[in-house]
Amino acid sequence: MRLSQYFLPLLKETPKEAQIASHRLMLRAGMIQQSSAGIYSWLPLGKKVLDKIADIVREEQNRAGALEIMMPTIQPAELWQESGRYDDYGAEMLRIRDRHERDMLYGPTNEEQVTDIFRAHVRSYKALPLNLYHIQWKFRDEVRPRFGIMRGREFLMKDAYSFDTDAQGARAAYNRMFVSYLKTFARMGLTAIPMEADTGPIGGDMSHEFIILAETGESGVYFHKDWLNADLVTQVNYDEDLQPVIDRFTSLYARADEMHDPDQCPVPADELMSLRGIEVGHIFYFGEKYSAAMGASVAGPDGSNKPVHMGSYGIGVSRLVGGIIEASHDEKGIIWPRAVAPFDVAVVNLKVGDDTCMTCADDLYARLQAAGADPIYDDRDDRPGAKLAAMDLIGIPWQIIIGPRGMDNGVVEVKNRRTGEAVEVSPDSALTMVMQDAE
Ligand code: ATP
Ligand code: MG
Repeated sequence: MRLSQYFLPLLKETPKEAQIASHRLMLRAGMIQQSSAGIYSWLPLGKKVLDKIADIVREEQNRAGALEIMMPTIQPAELWQESGRYDDYGAEMLRIRDRHERDMLYGPTNEEQVTDIFRAHVRSYKALPLNLYHIQWKFRDEVRPRFGIMRGREFLMKDAYSFDTDAQGARAAYNRMFVSYLKTFARMGLTAIPMEADTGPIGGDMSHEFIILAETGESGVYFHKDWLNADLVTQVNYDEDLQPVIDRFTSLYARADEMHDPDQCPVPADELMSLRGIEVGHIFYFGEKYSAAMGASVAGPDGSNKPVHMGSYGIGVSRLVGGIIEASHDEKGIIWPRAVAPFDVAVVNLKVGDDTCMTCADDLYARLQAAGADPIYDDRDDRPGAKLAAMDLIGIPWQIIIGPRGMDNGVVEVKNRRTGEAVEVSPDSALTMVMQDAE
């Protein structure tokens, strides 16, 4: 992408309304624009990151055996009246009336909707296990929308729903999602701590929240320090028995502030850590709560009909954009992990009027594209300092900087955004360095 043809409305001033780094940086980097409280437009740079995160989530859900569907944002009130949540959900639910005076709502979650799909089609245990998910916008009229897209009113969530004949099957489905979450967050460069959680209004009897550590996080978490160097589950595959893997993880203590009892804590004081974090995922097993209320039953091998056992599994896709920035930035701006970076590499031509610089930059840009990279090419006529600061701000993992002084010696500068290390190398070597990092 040539920057001269892109839409990247960078802000020079630090927006006053933004209290935390990710919100400030997303506004300054031209990723989002507020529409109303807790509701945002996603501009090209932001949309690209959002899609990359959603793609990783999707890939890992598919690998874990979940099937992608797409349910609507607007749901009929009847479904929620059946489950009993229409009144329970309260003021967070955005209620709408259509032109025929029918009560509708903008979905804050989809347990009812997916149970309705299930009961219309599935009659036998032979169709199970089944796990259906979608990546769709939700609306919750939060009392205090804040921190930009981190606690929005409209936000993008991946929500999966598992259906099994019994508690044991549901446990296996839960374990698969547990492992897939660890894999998902690891691919984004995040350490996520699964924390035993309250089941809240969704109800049920098993639940974990996945927390990434950040000073500005809304959740307090007590955990064993081994979490910080716990070898994640990249090696685990779904064919093995996952229970021992889960047991290994859950034996490492992690509890929310309100669930931590210092007198009962099994972790010695010098091995216990207490930090703040951001909830990026939440999984629940709630058994027959919705299936019993809504008549989603299947015939077992003995012919008798029983409500299915269900679980639901959420990931805050849009919240993750902010979460990753909280976990990975410095005073100059964002530092994207390569897997979610909006562009792999920035080609920065410091002197646009200079023929040698221009030829070298054009050539590198074309060769990076041909090699399969996704470069952003700053071909604008602007001050060198402003150009470099812009690339630091938007956090592109590599910068290839082309200027007349280097060109005299046949070299360009290659800078790594995370380490700040810069080396002068030939354009060929620059290409190799950047492409090797992608492997
Ligand atoms: P929280 O405790 O942060 O309010 P929740 O427990 O209500 O979240 P869930 O119903 O578990 O949220 O939703 C699944 C995921 O969706 C959460 O783990 C979080 O990452 C994300 N999420 C929830 N509410 C919001 C919001 N208002 N803005 C952005 N993401 C959200
Ligand atoms: Mg939650």
